[in-house]
Amino acid sequence: MGPKVRLRGLKPEMNTALQVARDIFALYQRDCIVTSAVDGKHSRGSLHYVGYAVDLRRRVFTDPGQVDDVTAMLRESLTPEYDVVLEPSHWHIEFQPKRGLNL
Ligand SMILES: [Zn+2]
Repeated sequence: MGPKVRLRGLKPEMNTALQVARDIFALYQRDCIVTSAVDGKHSRGSLHYVGYAVDLRRRVFTDPGQVDDVTAMLRESLTPEYDVVLEPSHWHIEFQPKRGLNL
């Protein structure tokens, strides 16, 4: 993880997500680097501020196919309460319990 990133204040659900991500990245011998957790600048109302989101460095993967594979694996490995968003520089993973099944 980056030297300036503080994991203090992260909710336990995000430790679960980080463990899953580390295992997936390890399949490719890549380090799982947290670029932002509770700190950093985020949009208003972001789950980062309440410890329910992490950002993971994307550029450790240079192959676009692997990026897509990792994204798919993250989504498959985490329960539906987690959202995995592929951003230009990072994966944003957040935890937000779904309210019922209003499809
Ligand atoms: Zn984020």
